[in-house]
Amino acid sequence: MIRKLYLAGADAFRLNMSHGSHEDHAAVIDAIRTLEKDTRRPMTILADLQGPKLRIGEFADGLVQLESGARFILDRDETPGDNSRVCMPHPEVFQAIEVGERLLLDDGKVVLRATAAETDRIETIVEVAGPLSNNKGLNVPDVIIPMDALTDKDRTDLTFALDQGVDWIALSFVQKPEDAAEARKLIQGRAALLAKIEKPSAVHRIDEILEAVDAVMVARGDLGVEIPPEDVPPLQKQIIEKARMVGRPVVVATQMLESMIRSPTPTRAEVSDVATAVYDGADAIMLSAESAAGDYPEESVEMMDKIATAVEADPTHWARVHFTETLPDSTSADALAEASNGIAQTVSANAIICFTTSGSTARRVSRERPSVPLLVLTPKLKTARRLGLLWGAHSVHTRDVVNFEEMVAKSKRMVIRARIAKGGDRVIVMAGVPFGTPGSTNVLHIVRLMGDELERHTDDEIADDS
Ligand code: PGA
Ligand code: MN
Repeated sequence: MIRKLYLAGADAFRLNMSHGSHEDHAAVIDAIRTLEKDTRRPMTILADLQGPKLRIGEFADGLVQLESGARFILDRDETPGDNSRVCMPHPEVFQAIEVGERLLLDDGKVVLRATAAETDRIETIVEVAGPLSNNKGLNVPDVIIPMDALTDKDRTDLTFALDQGVDWIALSFVQKPEDAAEARKLIQGRAALLAKIEKPSAVHRIDEILEAVDAVMVARGDLGVEIPPEDVPPLQKQIIEKARMVGRPVVVATQMLESMIRSPTPTRAEVSDVATAVYDGADAIMLSAESAAGDYPEESVEMMDKIATAVEADPTHWARVHFTETLPDSTSADALAEASNGIAQTVSANAIICFTTSGSTARRVSRERPSVPLLVLTPKLKTARRLGLLWGAHSVHTRDVVNFEEMVAKSKRMVIRARIAKGGDRVIVMAGVPFGTPGSTNVLHIVRLMGDELERHTDDEIADDS
């Protein structure tokens, strides 16, 4: 199935650590890496840590019905609950909640409002009634919970994921930039870090969080529980814009093709939603249950791919994406990135080719949202894999070049092999001289492909170390 999803258009895979055993995840990772070897196409794996998700305890009858206006108590007594009380095994929440604040249960289906709060007991009034069953999730959008960003389970999952060599770690329920810093200390550069924006507190501190991480996700599932759903679309646009400004990849996630969990075709509204994320200039669009547990995983990926392709074919797409203005920083990398985009338009080039070790030049070029594909050539497999989340980028893991002639020759072969350009086309090449020195992109060269160069490409120079 993973192979089918790849062929349908997927190039990054999320492992949701909230579900499945380490054994299950190891098998999936193994399948992805095998596919990567077979296709010689770098694949991106993102391990998504569950984070400090709050849950209530259990009920004597498994399920209760809460009536509107009734009193309901959350306490620390582990005795199974009934329709007057239930255990809530998170001492931090008792400390943080104040009278008048809301407690949302089961994705906001039941809403309680605190009328009294003590260190081991919160009294509430049921504001939105409904059924409540064992271990349902609890959201407390109005407060910052003084909780560790990483639970014990997260720490175990993180060690496992890093040992497995995943490319990205996603942090759930990030509340503040310090949460990212804490994760960074544990990750020690072994993977890139993505913060899921799904708490109002994260929205408030988005600028600092963006500085502290390598990418963000607009995690609309929990975000739409913590804030009114109608506030999510404007926030989606604002978060994408801010992420693009600072050059951090941004993923839009959750309920994108929700109805395709059970239906082979999406609703028109869902198609429009996916298209909106692409028009907003998001780097990546993500499926959840549709591909992880639904009846039509392949069809869902195919549909997403088709929607993205259709939007990109719209002549107004580029102008709409550039509604967000990303002014260059005063660095030579940004000067060259901006110039490459301008030159591509002036000479009607068909691609920008970027030699990079760390991937930073590619990120700055992608940030410009150029009008042509970005072909990334890198001697580091880790870099090629991480860049899978990057807008418009196609990465190839290949040996480094040692001189100018080789740079030009390899650019030609690789762009033809990737079927991004053909004989007669112009491409723009970016690299750093002296060759093999990271962080020194200072060359921008225009190359014209000759007609007879079409056939002269081989797979030999694709590095196959792992
Ligand atoms: P989840 O995160 O699927 O892990 O909950 C995404 C979201 O909340 O939208
Ligand atoms: Mn979530």
